[in-house]
Amino acid sequence: MIKNHNKHHTPYASPVIHQKTGNLVDLQGRRITYLRLAITDRCNLRCRYCRPEDGVPFIPHKEILSFEELERLVAIFCDLGIKKVRVTGGEPFSRRGCMPFLVRLRRIDRVQHLHITTNGVKTSRYLDELAAIGLDGINVSLDTLDHNRFREITRRDYLDSVLQTVHGALARGTPLKINSVVLEDTSDDEIIQLAGLARDFPITLRFIERMPFSGTVRTARLKNGNLSLRLKRIFPEIEECNVDIPTTARIFTMPDFKGNLGIIQGYSRLFCQRCNKVRITPSGMLKTCLYDNGALDLKKLLRDGAGDYEIRKAIINCVQKRFANGHEAERFSSRASEPSMAMIGG
Ligand code: SAM
Repeated sequence: MIKNHNKHHTPYASPVIHQKTGNLVDLQGRRITYLRLAITDRCNLRCRYCRPEDGVPFIPHKEILSFEELERLVAIFCDLGIKKVRVTGGEPFSRRGCMPFLVRLRRIDRVQHLHITTNGVKTSRYLDELAAIGLDGINVSLDTLDHNRFREITRRDYLDSVLQTVHGALARGTPLKINSVVLEDTSDDEIIQLAGLARDFPITLRFIERMPFSGTVRTARLKNGNLSLRLKRIFPEIEECNVDIPTTARIFTMPDFKGNLGIIQGYSRLFCQRCNKVRITPSGMLKTCLYDNGALDLKKLLRDGAGDYEIRKAIINCVQKRFANGHEAERFSSRASEPSMAMIGG
């Protein structure tokens, strides 16, 4: 049931773990407080760096965790100290019932921070409800502001709908971040245009390194270049902020910007020692690292009738065995082809 990938770890001091309350801590002393839930693998875009046009067969519906199962898991994870939950996918709003599910999650007191990550295509119609439940933030994925380029990257023509979501969220005062994957052919001009959103609006615009999750045959090393050097070259006046909360992003201020710029170096994996998150995939695998193969089959536990105590114990054991960093996770999880990020949740 629990895959043992720990045999190569250096044993560290044994962490103190309370089984009912708080303190989900791994062997490196990293405290886990952030849970990402990918509620579906379906998506209405076909971003070329995420999945092939018609490849990656969908997971059968019955193999995807039900909302009831997800809600139960969230409650269990909150018992273990999770404070922030992010609903993602696939595209979360591609799953019917996503909005009522968010309402139910909001009712769980111990979910202190509730966020979603969305491509923004269908999201604008839910913005009033999202504001009404006091959603703590929306991350919208947007890689370009150019219509042709958007069509080329996503293989769909929905840029206007995404921008409607961006401006609708701003109008409602919902905290907004935009995530932009920087591709090999992303130009400085595109970066400057996107950064303009953070100049004009209170948005954190984060540039993301491309990662090897394209749903296709494994390729050679990705050429991401050095994003922080590139940003400093384009914007010589940027200043890095010191952030005291665990985060995978580096954040920069710019004079006269209403918002901030950021970078997420998920390919370089420079932030692993600060990583406080775990993920649940649509089919119910717990991932303690983006690069692992799935460390615990939560769906099996749920559907075999395990009680909350047993599930908590399995999660604690699994988190203890978490890889030290994403490079180690990738080494022990090597595969012939890359999974799609839509199966993982970003
Ligand atoms: N559909 C939602 C969205 O578009 O935000 C949530 C899921 S999507 C898989 C989450 C994030 O992963 C998006 O920002 C997307 O750009 C990013 N992503 C997908 N494949 C990626 C890859 N190979 N490298 C880096 N980021 C990737």
